[in-house]
Amino acid sequence: MNCQNAQSMVLNFINNKLDKEETKAFIEHVRDCKDCWEELEIYYVMLVGLKQLDEGEELAADFRKKLQNEVESRYVEIEREAKRKHIAKIITILVTAAILIWMFAYLISAMLL
Ligand SMILES: [Zn+2]
Repeated sequence: MNCQNAQSMVLNFINNKLDKEETKAFIEHVRDCKDCWEELEIYYVMLVGLKQLDEGEELAADFRKKLQNEVESRYVEIEREAKRKHIAKIITILVTAAILIWMFAYLISAMLL
């Protein structure tokens, strides 16, 4: 992802409108790109700050920390889900293999007896 792509996704990221792939690519970019991180920070402070004012909430003292936590937790969640899917796939393969082996053994024993 380049900076132009990343910066065009900032608003959608904050509003949680990116799909998982996009979110992951976006986070991977802004983590390492100072410019885009700053862009994200500016919009985040603005939007979240406005929302909190609007809802009469007390303003979060540390937006930076809040943003960092949010970015990290979203990333961890995506990774976790990818891992879950991966494990599910492995289990499916193992179960299929076990059934095939069982059928094969059954056929062999049927032929021998
Ligand atoms: Zn960038």
